[in-house]
Amino acid sequence: SKVILQVNELKKHFNLGKGRNLKAVDDVSFDVYQGETFGLVGESGCGKSTIGRTIMGLYNRTDGQVSYGGKDVHELDEQEKFKFYRNMQMIFQDPYASLNPRSTVGEIISEPMIVHDLYPDKKKRMERVYQLLEEVGLNRDHATRYPHEFSGGQRQRIGVARALALDPDFIIADEPISALDVSVQAQVVNLLERLQEEKGLTYLFIAHDLSMVRHISDRIGVMYLGHLVELTDSDSLYENPKHPYTQALLSAIPIPDPDVEESRERVILEGELPSPIDPPSGCVFRTRCPMAMEACATTKPVWQAVDDNHFVACHLYNDDIKDKTPIKHKPK
Ligand code: SF4
Ligand code: MG
Repeated sequence: SKVILQVNELKKHFNLGKGRNLKAVDDVSFDVYQGETFGLVGESGCGKSTIGRTIMGLYNRTDGQVSYGGKDVHELDEQEKFKFYRNMQMIFQDPYASLNPRSTVGEIISEPMIVHDLYPDKKKRMERVYQLLEEVGLNRDHATRYPHEFSGGQRQRIGVARALALDPDFIIADEPISALDVSVQAQVVNLLERLQEEKGLTYLFIAHDLSMVRHISDRIGVMYLGHLVELTDSDSLYENPKHPYTQALLSAIPIPDPDVEESRERVILEGELPSPIDPPSGCVFRTRCPMAMEACATTKPVWQAVDDNHFVACHLYNDDIKDKTPIKHKPK
């Protein structure tokens, strides 16, 4: 299928002054196909939200490109930008913080339509609001109520209705379920999947762990400290993870089946997440990697294919690296 979004060697660094540079996103490349859900996963602070915001054009890039429908999103003229913001919408982690508490639900959902001069006739616009409320599993009576009158799950539905108001093609969902109760998470995921099917939406679905993304994502990219470390379809990622960081993330998810639990090798992460202001040399994961070898401190791992549509950045899979003895197991 067709590539709709291309992220190419994207860098987003924040200059903190005094020569300090926060490398939030460093050389990240991936494509998103039309109609798929691309999951982007990593611990908080790994740069995944920064990527979302840079794709949206809310941040300028430091280097590299983001193209949507073949156009560089950071080079759009005003008219193209306006159109781009109709096609691409965002859903946020905390629906409460992103909904104006003094506006009614009807006003919140109408706002993007007013900005974009869609449905200038108020009656038609309200009909559209009612329709959107029903599409997300709420009802028209909710239009006159305020965000605080709703539960977390309902508020996320309001956020989804607002994101749909302009009939977008692409939605960046930035941890849309992380703040919700587990029982409500599945409902919101089901809603997003149903809407995707009905409207042919493409999703970039950002999450901080791998427990919920498997079911919604077609492909998943795993990030660590500003870098993409592994990318493949979701089944391969869960069944055959290659990068030691992915293996660690997966072993943190409890498995209900005790037989599987027994046979599974646990990868426990050591130490703390390093600062993106002063990331480790070579492989950024090396300070926590149980497999780290000498080359990991000196050489940045290359992004390579290990299988069809399975990519990883790790020296373990690089035949040019001869000595793969883990430092930990070397005689002192
Ligand atoms: Fe671990 Fe080295 Fe692979 Fe990095 S390159 S993940 S430190 S083995
Ligand atoms: Mg899907």
